[in-house]
Amino acid sequence: MRLRRYRGQHVRFRPNDVAEDRVALIPNLEYRPEELNLYSEVDPLQENVPPLRGNNTLRYVVTHHRREVLTEILPAVPALVYMETMQDRVDAYMVKKYAGNRPDPARLKQDIKDRAASLGFALCGVTLLDRRFVVDGGDDHFPYPRAVVLGMEMRREWLMQAPNYRLRRYPDYDVYRRAGGAVHRLANFIRRQGVSCSARVAFNGAVVYPVHAITAGLGELGAFGGVITPEFGPRQRWCMITVDAELPLDGPADRGLAGFCEKCLLCAAKCPAKAIPERPMWWRGVYKRKINDLKCWAFFTGWHTCAVCINVCPLHRFGPREVLEHYEKTGEVLGYEEIKAEKPMYRKTRDLEALLDLVR
Ligand code: SF4
Ligand code: SF4
Repeated sequence: MRLRRYRGQHVRFRPNDVAEDRVALIPNLEYRPEELNLYSEVDPLQENVPPLRGNNTLRYVVTHHRREVLTEILPAVPALVYMETMQDRVDAYMVKKYAGNRPDPARLKQDIKDRAASLGFALCGVTLLDRRFVVDGGDDHFPYPRAVVLGMEMRREWLMQAPNYRLRRYPDYDVYRRAGGAVHRLANFIRRQGVSCSARVAFNGAVVYPVHAITAGLGELGAFGGVITPEFGPRQRWCMITVDAELPLDGPADRGLAGFCEKCLLCAAKCPAKAIPERPMWWRGVYKRKINDLKCWAFFTGWHTCAVCINVCPLHRFGPREVLEHYEKTGEVLGYEEIKAEKPMYRKTRDLEALLDLVR
């Protein structure tokens, strides 16, 4: 780790070790590379929101994660534990065993995409890892510069009911279990081609997935802070595999989705925590809507559920193609008035003030 001086202090130098800055390729994104670089050095991203950092973790989990929520999270844990404890040894063993199989990169990329689709990842693209979006201390989890970004659809019918406290269910936490198993199976497929790789599950905060999904050409930045894709709108979870092969890169594209957000903004209007700002702002060198994750986290856990921002999104409700066609013909947002008038079904927690105290 190199150190350099900034305002009299030694700080970590976190160079973007990619030859090409792929954030600069994102259409219509205003951004200041020097500012983004500087933030990644002097104030690198952290893995957890403050309520889950340090001494707060146990207090927070015990107080606010009820039994029914834990039973939903637990099935996702084995893939996380395997990722942290086993996969490096499996990788070394398999890559040695299958070293003779190594195909050319273009063929390998196509095989990975086909295999990913058969495992349930409808979205698959290749980009370069951008270490400015890796959390402090997380670099070792991403040993290779090429990243395969994988998106799995969340269950539409469950999200259509979000938020619904009576279901006692977070909106499709099961996707973390499904995607966790699938990403490890895909990683082992890559190893059987004699290629070393390292998988990261969706239930993992070591890297910012959205920016990589966008630079891999899979979607655009939505007003709610996540990626909106032409396939599912906001309704997917992301995983990543960094691969020791020169896979051909995919690139970001403008499909009119981010532009549509500027006309819609239903997620900002309906967010019960008021965590989505109506206007973009400069944040760590990028001009975007910065989600107030502290407000979001407090409300999400306080109600046991939320995802209002996904459920109210017309791209999720009616499908991106239908919504964009309707917008092109009429200049209107499909379903806007009906969605705006809906009342969400949630129950406010008694401890809301205590929750907000933790994040203030
Ligand atoms: S999950 Fe809920 S609180 Fe968080 S941004 Fe979305 S709508 Fe707002
Ligand atoms: S609700 Fe509207 S503004 Fe928000 S992400 Fe969906 S399309 Fe974009």
